[in-house]
Amino acid sequence: MNILYIESNNKLVDLINKNYSNISHEIILVNNPTDALLLLEQTKKIDLIITEIDFPELNIIAYLRKIRELKKDIFIVVTSKLDIYSSFQDFQDLKISAILKKPFPINKLKNIINQIDEKINIILNKYEIEKLKENCLNLQILNQELNSFIKPFKEFLFYSETDLEGNIVEISDSFCELLGFKKEEVLGKKHSIIKYPLENPLKYIDLWQTVSKGKIWIGELQCKNKFGHDIWFKSIIFPKKDINGNIIGYGAKRQNITDRKIAELQSITDDLTGLYNKRFFKQIFLSERNRAKRNKKNLLLLMLDIDNFKKYNDMYGHFEGDKALKKVASVLKRNSKRANDFAFRLGGEEFAIVTSNISYEKIVTYCERIRESILNLKILHKDNTDIGFISVSIGVFNLEIEDSYNCDEIYKFADIALYEAKNLGRNKVLIYKKQNV
Ligand code: GH3
Ligand code: MG
Ligand code: MG
Repeated sequence: MNILYIESNNKLVDLINKNYSNISHEIILVNNPTDALLLLEQTKKIDLIITEIDFPELNIIAYLRKIRELKKDIFIVVTSKLDIYSSFQDFQDLKISAILKKPFPINKLKNIINQIDEKINIILNKYEIEKLKENCLNLQILNQELNSFIKPFKEFLFYSETDLEGNIVEISDSFCELLGFKKEEVLGKKHSIIKYPLENPLKYIDLWQTVSKGKIWIGELQCKNKFGHDIWFKSIIFPKKDINGNIIGYGAKRQNITDRKIAELQSITDDLTGLYNKRFFKQIFLSERNRAKRNKKNLLLLMLDIDNFKKYNDMYGHFEGDKALKKVASVLKRNSKRANDFAFRLGGEEFAIVTSNISYEKIVTYCERIRESILNLKILHKDNTDIGFISVSIGVFNLEIEDSYNCDEIYKFADIALYEAKNLGRNKVLIYKKQNV
C-alpha cells in the first residue's frame, strides 16, 4: 500500500520514519498541503492519505474536497490536535475514514493503517473476481457469436462432431449428402457406419490414441457411403475442450480425396483381375521386406503360375482364359485379407502374394489351402495332364528374421522354387530350401 503522509511536526515525522522503515507499506512524507496536492496530481499510486489539518489559514473542507476530486476512491485519515471534527457532517460527506486526535500512540496509527490495508485487499480481491467473471462472460459471448458465425460455413464442409464415446452429435449437410444419409439416420450413431471394413486397424488405434491425449490427428481414411461406394477422406480430427481444458468431444474436418485415390489405385491395379499390378509389386515388396525386418517378423513371397495355361487358351479360347484368370485371382484375394497382405498379377498367368508374420508351421497349410482352393474351382481343363482342372504351381520363399537377402534374391529364390514345383509335376507347392553355409 502506498501512503501519502502530510505532517509538519518534525518529531512526529521522525517517529513515523523510524516505525515504518522496514515494513511493506511505502510512505511518502510531505510537510504541507500544497506539496501534497501537487504530488497527488502527478501520481496515481496512492492508496491512503493521512493528513494533518491544523495548518494556519488552511480551508480544511476545500482542501479535503480537492483531494477527493483528485482521488475519488482514496482512503483519507485526518490528524488534528483539536477534538471538534468528529461531528462534522462535511467529513462524513467527504468519506473521511478516521480522525486521529493528536497526540496519539504510534500503535493506534499502525492499527488504522492495517485496517485500511485489509479493506483495500478485500476490495482488490472482489474487483479481481468481478473482472474474471466479466472476462469469462465475455469469452462465452464471443464463443457463441463465433459459433453462430461459423455454423453456416460448417455446413459446406464435410464436418462432424462426436461426444467422448464417439457418438455423432453434429454433422454437416454436405457430409450427410455425400454419405447418402439423412441427418436423423446418423445422429447418435458411431462413425463405424461409414467405416471401410478392411481399413488398416492400426490407423484407428493411432487416431484414438492421438486425440484422447488432446492432440490433433491428420490422416487418410477409406470409408463407405450408404450405397457401399468407396470414399476417401483426408481427415483432421481434433479434441474439443471446455473452458478448463477438459476434452468434451471430438470434431472432424475432411477433404474428399476420392478422385485422387481412384487414380492412384488405377495406376497400381491390374485391369482384368483387380489385383495389384507388377508396378505396385516392385514398390510394396521392398517396403514390406524392410517393414518385416524392422518389426522382426518373417516375410513370405508366394509365386504362382497357372499350369499348362497355353493349352487352356488353345482349347477353350482367350475369352474363357480371361474368365479363368479372374476366378483364380478371386481365390488369391480371399486369401490375402489381413492388413499387410498383398496379392498381385505380375503378368500373363503369373501371380504373387506377399504376406508377413505367418509362423513356420502354418506356411505349408496356408500355401496348400490356396493351391487346393484353385483346384476346387473345378474349372475344366482336359489338357492339364491327368488333373483335368485348372491348377497352379506355387514357389515359396520364407525370409526369416535372421536372413538378410535383398528383394532380387528373394524373388529369384521363389522363382527357382516355382520352377521346381513345375518339374515335380505341377499342382504343387514348393518351399525354397536355403543352403546351409
Ligand atoms: P506352365 O505350366 O509351364 O506354366 O505352362 P503354361 O502354358 O502355363 O506357360 P506358358 O508361359 O508357355 O504360357 C502362358 C500362357 O498364358 C500364354 C498365353 O496363352 C496365356 N496368357 C497370358 N496372358 C494371358 C491373358 O491375359 N489372357 C489369357 N486368356 N491368356 C493369357
Ligand atoms: Mg508362366
Ligand atoms: Mg503357366
